[in-house]
Amino acid sequence: MRVKRAEVLGRCVGVRRAVELALGTALREGDRRVYTLGPLIHNPQAVAELEAAGVHALSEAELEPGGLAAGGLDGAAVVIRAHGVPPAMRERLAALGARIVDATCPRVLASQRRAADYAARGWKVVIAGDEGHGEVAGIAGYAPGSVVVGGPGEAEAVDPEGRPVALIAQTTIKKEEYEAIRAVLARRFPGLETVDSICPCTEDRLAALARLAAEVEAIVIVGGRNSANTARLLATALELGKPAWLVETAEELPEAAFGYGSVGLSAGASTPERLIAEVEDRLARGLTPGAAAGVD
Ligand code: SF4
Repeated sequence: MRVKRAEVLGRCVGVRRAVELALGTALREGDRRVYTLGPLIHNPQAVAELEAAGVHALSEAELEPGGLAAGGLDGAAVVIRAHGVPPAMRERLAALGARIVDATCPRVLASQRRAADYAARGWKVVIAGDEGHGEVAGIAGYAPGSVVVGGPGEAEAVDPEGRPVALIAQTTIKKEEYEAIRAVLARRFPGLETVDSICPCTEDRLAALARLAAEVEAIVIVGGRNSANTARLLATALELGKPAWLVETAEELPEAAFGYGSVGLSAGASTPERLIAEVEDRLARGLTPGAAAGVD
């Protein structure tokens, strides 16, 4: 079987930097536990590898009374993930005695700064994105009075409270969704200012996948099931009319994936290279499975 990788796949620069910072900190700290606030990335295998290296994912519940960190972090290093956090969370961690290691992606930091700047100048900040996403919550925390909109319907309901309006996008929002929101706000608020904050990483992976799909018979996506950008890669492969499967590890490759002369490989922005290489190797060697997982 011929296995071909997408020209762009796997970890983005922001995730790579966050993982390197966390591992580097764990090395320097020696036996001392290092924490991340929430899983550093949306990939269970990578999170397990970090745990083995001494990097423990701390949940917010563990900061509450009775939780692991409630009694204080006693100078322990806490890595802030690429999505960033609201300023109130930084203050809370500092109050618990954490030493903050900031792995917020520079693109997300730029959005936080722009949001804070607009809010300080009296603008109404509108954030286009998923209200439940950590990055969006972080940006909103820097812009008091801001509002999150998930679609054009919600954009119709924005109350500017007599203020000029600025629009900032979640870095990973779909371009079409963003454009639909922007069009509504531009019509309603002619002085609308927009911040070009969409990260090209996701679009680059989708475009590379589309090129790959033209050259292969089926597609395998490697990545976490809890990763939104990985799910989008799978949905795109299926929309392109290819049989496609999402696997977290090589062991999950379904029997059906071995029934083609050529298979394309892509991977989400949190997927470690090791997992991609293992899937590639198993496919190329025709080592049929294991448990099946995915969609046909
Ligand atoms: S997808 Fe883009 S914005 Fe998000 S962490 Fe990666 S590089 Fe940064």
